[in-house]
Order: sequence, then C-alpha cells, then structure tokens
Amino acid sequence: MSNTHSISAEHVVLIGGGSTNALTAVRLAERGFRVTVLEKAKIGNGSSSRSAAGIRAQFSIEETVIGMQYSEWWYAHFHQHLRTPPEMSQSVIQQNGYLFLYEDPEQAAPVWKHGVRREMAQTWQVARANVAMQQLIGLPVEILEPQEIHYRWPHIEPDRLAGATWCPSDGFLFPQMIYMEGFRRAQELGRRFAARNGSDRSDPARRPHHHS
Ligand SMILES: Cc1cc2nc3c(=O)[nH]c(=O)nc-3n(C[C@H](O)[C@H](O)[C@H](O)COP(=O)(O)OP(=O)(O)OC[C@H]3O[C@@H](n4cnc5c(N)ncnc54)[C@H](O)[C@@H]3O)c2cc1C
Repeated sequence: MSNTHSISAEHVVLIGGGSTNALTAVRLAERGFRVTVLEKAKIGNGSSSRSAAGIRAQFSIEETVIGMQYSEWWYAHFHQHLRTPPEMSQSVIQQNGYLFLYEDPEQAAPVWKHGVRREMAQTWQVARANVAMQQLIGLPVEILEPQEIHYRWPHIEPDRLAGATWCPSDGFLFPQMIYMEGFRRAQELGRRFAARNGSDRSDPARRPHHHS
C-alpha cells in the first residue's frame, strides 16, 4: 500500500482516445495516478472504431494462449471490473466461437503437387498439436472430423476437408463499449479519489481529464 501512495502523485499523460488508453486510464486511476488523456479528434477516432475486433485464444504459443484466455475472461466480466451501472451494461464480447477449417491435402491439390500436399498435411498436423497444447492449459477447444463439421454447420460441405478446430469461447468485441465505458470509469474513479482524499491540492490533480 505504501508503494501505491508513493506513486500516486505521478501525473501520466496518455496520448490518444482509443481502447488502449481507455483501459490504461482506468488501471492508472485505480492505482491513484493523475491521468490526462489527450485526443486530437474525438474519442474512438482511430483503429478502435474500424476494427473487426475478433478475439481468440487459438494460438500456437502457450504464453499467448494463456494471455488470450485471460483476455476473454476479462472481457466476459468487463462490466464487473468497470462497475458499469446496470442500465449501461450492454454486451462487450460475443463468444460465438472460432472455427478454423483445414483442407484435405489429397482433395485440395493434384497428385503431382507434392509440395503443396505436404505443406497442407503439415499445417493440419501442427493444428492438431496446437489443440493438444491448448487443451492441456484448459482451453475448451476441440478437433472436429469432417462429418461432425457438416452435422453442426450443414452449409459446410465436408468432402474437401481434413477437419477443423473449434473453440466456443473465441468471438468478437464491441470496441465502442470498451472505450466509452473505459473513459466513463476513469472519470468516475477520478471523482471518487477526489471525494475520498478531499484536499484542494489533490482534487483537481486526481481527476482524469478528457480533451476532445
Ligand atoms: C481494419 C481493422 C481490423 C482490425 N481487426 C482486429 C481484430 O479482429 N482483432 C483485434 O484484436 N484487433 C484488430 N484490429 C486492431 C485494433 O483495432 C487496434 O489494435 C486497436 O483498436 C488499437 O487501439 P488504440 O487505442 O491503441 O489505437 P486507436 O484506436 O487507433 O487510437 C489512437 C487514437 O490516438 C489519436 N491520436 C493519434 N495521434 C495523436 C496525437 N498526436 N495527439 C492526440 N491524439 C492522437 C487518434 O485520433 C486515435 O483516436 C483491427 C484494426 C483495423 C484497422
């Protein structure tokens, strides 16, 4: 705690009003930093409003899988973390799953294209090995055979497929909710710090400012 007090007088200026700084502002404000956010246009002006905002934990490096698993969990509990008023708690994440399809090398490339077939077989093998690694660290990911894929999604023809990997906790985010709610919470934390500490010197300094 004494650490928190010793850093609380620091003033951090964040440049840019997108998702990154919305959440950074919250974390800094939670730790007692003075936060100023400078935005050259308007909140959400950059990539945050242009993103496909896909989020997934199906990766090939263990640390990334763990990090993204945490990230999906964090966004699934976003409104609890940010203490969003119930009337403003719209969805921030849609976990509708990610399905990666892999082609059957023998169907997808002619017999004389050995290199292509070998590469495709290898890709499918690596995908299966990744699933084994991901399952070991608790990701609810599965390997699906072609018939199972067709059964679950009848519009997908199974003939050319070697299989698929499917993780139902992957999905996409609603970035506008991230930055709007993030900055709302950062401002709220500023007000709360001011009320709690109450001194003239710290009040204005502890309130995160947004300039647009
Ligand atoms: C087409 C597209 C698809 C994407 N798809 C995905 C996806 O599926 N999954 C995923 O995780 N990510 C995706 N991304 C990436 C993701 O959108 C970005 O990583 C994220 O939005 C970055 O957020 P940010 O807050 O760091 O930056 P930004 O949202 O770009 O915010 C930067 C802000 O800084 C402001 N600014 C810039 N210069 C200055 C200055 N000198 N002074 C003051 N303000 C300044 C800008 O106006 C802007 O508002 C995608 C991005 C794009 C463009």
